[in-house]
Amino acid sequence: MTTVIKAGWLIDGTGTSAIKDGYITFTNGRITDVGRSGQLNVPEGAVVIDLPQHTLLPGFIDAHSHVSIHTLGHEIAQVARREAEITIDALRWLREDLNSGVTMMRVLGDPDFLDIRLNQAQREGKIDIPRLKTAGNLVQSSHVSVSVSKSTCDGPDAIRQAVRASIKAGCDWVKFYSTPASRTPNPILPIFSRGEVDVIFEEARRAGRPVSAHCHGGPAADWCIEHDVDSIEHGLFLERRQMVEMARRGITLVPTTGVILLQDSSNPSPFLLRAQERANNFLSMAKEEGVRCVPGTDAVHGRMDFEVQKLVDGGWTIPEAIACMTGDAARLLREEDTGTLERGRRADIVAVRGNVMEDVARLSSVDLVVQDGQQRFGSAGIGVGERISAASRV
Ligand SMILES: [Zn+2]
Repeated sequence: MTTVIKAGWLIDGTGTSAIKDGYITFTNGRITDVGRSGQLNVPEGAVVIDLPQHTLLPGFIDAHSHVSIHTLGHEIAQVARREAEITIDALRWLREDLNSGVTMMRVLGDPDFLDIRLNQAQREGKIDIPRLKTAGNLVQSSHVSVSVSKSTCDGPDAIRQAVRASIKAGCDWVKFYSTPASRTPNPILPIFSRGEVDVIFEEARRAGRPVSAHCHGGPAADWCIEHDVDSIEHGLFLERRQMVEMARRGITLVPTTGVILLQDSSNPSPFLLRAQERANNFLSMAKEEGVRCVPGTDAVHGRMDFEVQKLVDGGWTIPEAIACMTGDAARLLREEDTGTLERGRRADIVAVRGNVMEDVARLSSVDLVVQDGQQRFGSAGIGVGERISAASRV
């Protein structure tokens, strides 16, 4: 069956401006046509949905999240719970992500390979959540505990074991902690030694896995940049010279500002205030230096709208900022059959109420989410044929 969605505006995720009165058609989970409504020939037997007050966009991609925590809550307590409790909340939060428009997500470290198990279940059609890219074990040392994963490793042998365990479990990425968290006294202190960092890259590269580094700056950032790390996460305290080098080498920065700026600030520590000040300013430096930015929520589930807003505040145009979250994100995740509304791509489509070109905050008003051509979320009165839930497919 072919479905046609006509909408007041269409932003295709390549960075170009919106098409006024656009349409998209899809069949069997793939986009078959995109254009202006005046050129539309409705295919025989197609279902037509008309959304004149909506903007169509590619499915959102959250390039940095976790499934076992919500970072506006108490992370340590969340991770300390029983596995079943963690899993129940993971499903709830992932559903929230999907309903907010996120059809694909990169998950950067969770306990017990939960990300890899959930990803399998999604691919088998058992659960409706974003498609996942996984990192398995977080590679982190024992003496600087940041985090969401329970396992730690020290020294080259243990690091090799940790990386190999993730690879064996089926991870897509290798993720490691190169510096402490942003809200600590010294967020640019290197956690691993230079030699240990070399081992992480050696193991990941030999297995053909891209590397993601939690990194706020300092010498650890220099080492990651020298290794052509695939993405630097957060990067709040990167220096300008480091951004210049990242741009030159094509290294992606994954800003996650909501986890800092949306925290309860009623009784802030000086470290939170310092991080918030940077979170409000560092993106304009990244934009000036031409660093490719692909945003993530860092498990502030459902708030990609906030991250795109911060890119716009940092100097990106609205279509450029949306491309950061969609087309550019798909390239970072090596999933180039999604991320843009173009013929042949996966039918991952979001409709938001209003004209996003006039007001980027419209991204929080999602009324329809289509993933792989299947409706996953639709508010009252808006539907792409019959909603097929995972439950009915079992
Ligand atoms: Zn994270």
